[in-house]
Amino acid sequence: MGPGPITVDPRVLRAMSAQLVGQYDPAMTAYMNETQALYREVFRTRNDATVLVDGTSRAGIEAALVSLVHPGDRVLVPVFGRFGHLLREIAERCGAEVHVREVPWGEVFTLEAIEQAVREVRPHLVAVVQGDTSTTMNQPLEGVGEVCHRHGALLYVDCTASLGGNAFEMDAWEVDATTAGLQKCLGGPSGSAPLSLSPRAVAVVDARRSVEAGLRSEDEDAAPAPARIRSNYFDLGMVLDYWGEKRLNHHTEATTMLYGARECARLLLEEGIGNSIARHRLHGEAVLAGVRALGLEVFGDVAHKMHNVVAVQVPDGVDGEAVRAELLHDYGIEIGTSFGPLAGRVWRIGSMGYNARKDAVLLTLAALEQVLRRHGARVPAGAGCVAAQEVYA
Ligand SMILES: *Cc1c(COP(=O)(O)O)cnc(C)c1O
Repeated sequence: MGPGPITVDPRVLRAMSAQLVGQYDPAMTAYMNETQALYREVFRTRNDATVLVDGTSRAGIEAALVSLVHPGDRVLVPVFGRFGHLLREIAERCGAEVHVREVPWGEVFTLEAIEQAVREVRPHLVAVVQGDTSTTMNQPLEGVGEVCHRHGALLYVDCTASLGGNAFEMDAWEVDATTAGLQKCLGGPSGSAPLSLSPRAVAVVDARRSVEAGLRSEDEDAAPAPARIRSNYFDLGMVLDYWGEKRLNHHTEATTMLYGARECARLLLEEGIGNSIARHRLHGEAVLAGVRALGLEVFGDVAHKMHNVVAVQVPDGVDGEAVRAELLHDYGIEIGTSFGPLAGRVWRIGSMGYNARKDAVLLTLAALEQVLRRHGARVPAGAGCVAAQEVYA
């Protein structure tokens, strides 16, 4: 019941135990095409360029940024938590001239603040996190793409933590590039990063396209080295050629992760994205009501919280890490702490993917109550479960 990775849906585990097939086996290429179509629905986009990057969510972020950002390009990063700092650091490693704007942890940016920063910086790309799990905040994105496009910038969004549990509308919000992972609301393991690029973003990648020597035909030129994307593995031009009609060899697709990613998308779409968001909202509200009824304070601007995770202040006089250890040891329940300024100061309780269930929420609240009492906190008996049950009633 932490902020991810989460318990994997048994259907995803079963899908991942299927036998492997060769990368150009018709069954495999059909799975690849099907997975692209599924993730177009998941991201709510018509983008042709919708694929999986093999690696954890961070691999998706690196692929998007290294492919879209030339050394020297200006990049604007609105930072409201740990993962915003990660975008900044990856953009810096791409050689970008990075401009950061920050709000205190526990808050999000207004559209006006983002527009103001875009006017000042005039970036080539704005890179922003949707749901930053470190603070649990969910940055509103409506209008951000429109602002970026009005000022000639591309918009990249990391929606790893929020996708499937909170609304994400790639096309309607004019997002040019997005990446995710499976281990949050999608109910899968880490290790695959679904990614989608708008035609605008593909045009930027196309301008830097190259084909490896040994794969090129005689009449094709190599792109001059300075223009080339500065990573081979994360060169989205080559990744798109691999997933596209050419099926030009690049890496060997991680077949088992493809099975897993495909099953995650199938689960989400069978449930319906709207139903999945409603389920995450319901269980998130139950956790919120439960911890408040136990007398705990919630961290941050609750009105902008993601549905799938709650950050709770560790009460004075209670050893937060000892509580986490006892929950795990005695009850088999894992909850998280956070990073940097919040390390040890908050607990993060997730209810996402396969764990967004009533039994999981009620057991967590009951166990937390017992452990808190053993650690000297005065908590009203049964209050957490009663409050959660009222949300469910
Ligand atoms: C959890 C999370 C990630 C995880 O990245 P990995 O490489 O899969 O560990 C990335 N971005 C955000 C916003 C997250 O919440």
